[in-house]
Amino acid sequence: MTLRESRATDREGGPEWMLGQIEAIAADWKFDRCGIGFGGPVDFPTQTVTLSTHVGGWKRFPLVERIKQRFNVPVIMDNDANAGALGEAIYGAGRGARPMFYMTLSTGIGGGIVLDDSTVYRGADSYAGELGHITLKPDGPECLCGSHGCFERLCCGMWLERDYGKSAKELMQEPEFVERYVIDLARGLKAAVMILNPARIVIGGGIAKAGDALFVPLRAELRRQVTSWSRARLEVVPAGLGDDSVLYGCLGIFKAATTPSS
Ligand SMILES: [Zn+2]
Repeated sequence: MTLRESRATDREGGPEWMLGQIEAIAADWKFDRCGIGFGGPVDFPTQTVTLSTHVGGWKRFPLVERIKQRFNVPVIMDNDANAGALGEAIYGAGRGARPMFYMTLSTGIGGGIVLDDSTVYRGADSYAGELGHITLKPDGPECLCGSHGCFERLCCGMWLERDYGKSAKELMQEPEFVERYVIDLARGLKAAVMILNPARIVIGGGIAKAGDALFVPLRAELRRQVTSWSRARLEVVPAGLGDDSVLYGCLGIFKAATTPSS
């Protein structure tokens, strides 16, 4: 059974406000494990929030400890893109495709890399796959990370809305806009293709729900940018689990933690 509740974020509210919301929503729910897909960098080995570039107050906030104390269940946390990647790789649109690259195209942009053994590649400091902050335009507008012209600054939902005064959902219904938009989007994805040569790229998050209106021009543009010089396959598909990629990814993390590796 799936219970679902989503609420808008109060950007000024900070972690205590967020915890209050979680407590209010989950107070009557019965569950025996809790998985958290945090929308920012997470130090996975120590299970701590690094920070959020989108909202303040989260730097090293002890989220896992606080949820454990409140609900008295095992809690696992990862960056939302890493969790989403694992969910799609094991249960969704990335099944059978390894290595797989997952990108969440939402308020921000995140990436996750799933290896041949269906584990997430997190790198030395849990920062692997942070595709949102590769530089597409050095002279471009300033990003929340302090750099300029980041992939996320040019293509994510929050900035699209600020730059164009319309929601990403509305913009994806304008073919002329999408034709321009996919140029930067493909530039970002090309970096992932060149470094990882993934068997498949799965894109989740709200903007990916635009479906063919986005994916058809995106595939054409990516094929144009990754010239025939490269024989790397270019398979780009929308997420198969919709809003549940992260939920299933956390299930995958729990299963990996309880299954002794052989
Ligand atoms: Zn940035």
